Amino acid sequence: MTNKKDIKILSQILDIDEVKVISHSIYNEIGIILRTEPIKLYSVCPSCGTESHKLHQNHRHIIKDLPFGEKPIFLEINRRQFKCRICKKPFSEEFEFARKKRTYTNRLANKIIQEVLENDIHSVASRGIVTTEEIERMLKRCI
Ligand SMILES: [Zn+2]
Repeated sequence: MTNKKDIKILSQILDIDEVKVISHSIYNEIGIILRTEPIKLYSVCPSCGTESHKLHQNHRHIIKDLPFGEKPIFLEINRRQFKCRICKKPFSEEFEFARKKRTYTNRLANKIIQEVLENDIHSVASRGIVTTEEIERMLKRCI
């Protein structure tokens, strides 16, 4: 259980204004998992720009974020699908902190890219936070 005070502190430390932390678990071998929920109650349809409050589905998955000290941090995020009343189609919401279909946050990608520029892909991958494949994807996105 995570109490209200912890949740507030964890959300402040996480410092991503699009989500709040709702609970956390610490696993010795894995790291810290922070369960988050979006703060906004609506999203804007990418096709027509209409605000939608009609939740279609929840889509929870886990992505990697910047480590906290020596502990890897994983965020469980909920990228909801809303249904647009004009287009009559569901769409999934955009977040500024993490692109769709990615397994990591943008700020982790930026940090890794910095490290690769200063070192090389294999030594950064050997630290175990991200795989060589993920680094290549980050770099492609950058170019
Ligand atoms: Zn629409």
